[in-house]
Amino acid sequence: MNVSHLALEDNHTITQRILDEVRDILLESLTADLITELVDRDMDAMEQATQHLLRLVGGRLMATLVEVSVLRHVGPPPNCAQCNRPMRLVDRRRERKMHGLVGDFAYSRPYFHCRACGDGLAPDDERFGVGALSYTPALSRVAAAQAVDVPFERAARKLSETLGADFCEADVYRAVESLGAVAETEIQAEMATPAAPPPAPDGDTLVMGMDGTTSHIEGAWHEVKVGVVGTLGPETKRDPTTDRELFAVKNPMYCAAANTEADAFMPRFLWLARQAGQGHPALRRVVFINDGGPWIWTRASQLDQEGVERIEILDYFHVTEHVWRVAGAFFGPQSLDAHAWVRPVLENLLDHGPEPLLQALNALRPRTKDQKDELRKATGYFSDHREHMRYPQYMDMKLPIASGIVEATCRSVVCQRTKGAGMRWSRMGAQAVLNLRCFYLSSHDRWRNFFDHRPLRNAPRVALIRRDAQDAA
Ligand SMILES: [Zn+2]
Repeated sequence: MNVSHLALEDNHTITQRILDEVRDILLESLTADLITELVDRDMDAMEQATQHLLRLVGGRLMATLVEVSVLRHVGPPPNCAQCNRPMRLVDRRRERKMHGLVGDFAYSRPYFHCRACGDGLAPDDERFGVGALSYTPALSRVAAAQAVDVPFERAARKLSETLGADFCEADVYRAVESLGAVAETEIQAEMATPAAPPPAPDGDTLVMGMDGTTSHIEGAWHEVKVGVVGTLGPETKRDPTTDRELFAVKNPMYCAAANTEADAFMPRFLWLARQAGQGHPALRRVVFINDGGPWIWTRASQLDQEGVERIEILDYFHVTEHVWRVAGAFFGPQSLDAHAWVRPVLENLLDHGPEPLLQALNALRPRTKDQKDELRKATGYFSDHREHMRYPQYMDMKLPIASGIVEATCRSVVCQRTKGAGMRWSRMGAQAVLNLRCFYLSSHDRWRNFFDHRPLRNAPRVALIRRDAQDAA
């Protein structure tokens, strides 16, 4: 359709024109011959033909809406973002092709150029919230929602299956890479200078933890650190293993960083905690639950907030593993004597806290070097964590004593997506996927908030990041 005159028409006329055009497309495509052919075929053929038709209609509708919008927003030449000089109109109608969620289409818009620094700009693209990608924002979002779950090649196949058109792995990868890079820029900016005060937490208690796992990044296995923060209670649930009542975790939120040192990870974790309400005056208590990783415990105090109680809990199952290792060294692994020693030690730990355990260790008399080493390690570990093993108190307070939420975070955020057979990542590629996956798994709001402010607009203009993440399988 020639839309140039539509810019001046009223909305009613435009609507009528668009409806006319849809009718024309249907009349053009849905010929008597096609209908004759389809009615003799099965429902799959009918539906695929209908989907194809709807994509044609969708693409034409998008093209019309976009072109009318372009014509209605003619403005003066913009100033160059690099050098701030006025830019020159070089093309009144530069064409751009898009792959969209509802169909493919092309549109034309004015294109400006900066003579001084060579920069080019189409202000309408900025207004539409599109970046350099060939995917529309809606298609990028849907592609990303697939690719946070499955390898890029499979995400492309799922898109093709669902939308009834061809989508390729490279384009899906580019969409994720760009969006993930924008997410990283936003996270870094928020880490440095929070834009707003922390939101009110969903309850008065937050539960949080950190851990590390690995992924194959830039040619070797590197640590990926994860963090999780959720609200604890006031709803309770029954723990199936201990049959006791404890507070349920609500609205967990996640963050992850590929190949990062502990000190570099902490600002990201603090940023996450802040998103969940850390720093808000309504917060009363922070429960920090973890396994024994020393880098985690030494940094817990960074979460301190005035008037907020911080309770640190050592994962009970890591404790039992250590107790069993000592028993194995002294009484033989899995021996009856080992069982006889371990059972009361663990029962006392749950009923009376860490002191009976430390006394039981104290009463052991090592005879071999192996026993001496195990005892020294265990005594050191349990003495360091004495104040993190007040299990009777935690259970009275209905707090969790196992770090299941943290371990589940490692698995669900990192391992399930980045550790498939043959997966190799660049650091930026891994970080891009991890950022989006964290948003996606955190909550629908987190994901929607990110996409609501048109992230593609800020995506790198050209693919800055080399495509060297490959995921097979
Ligand atoms: Zn310039």
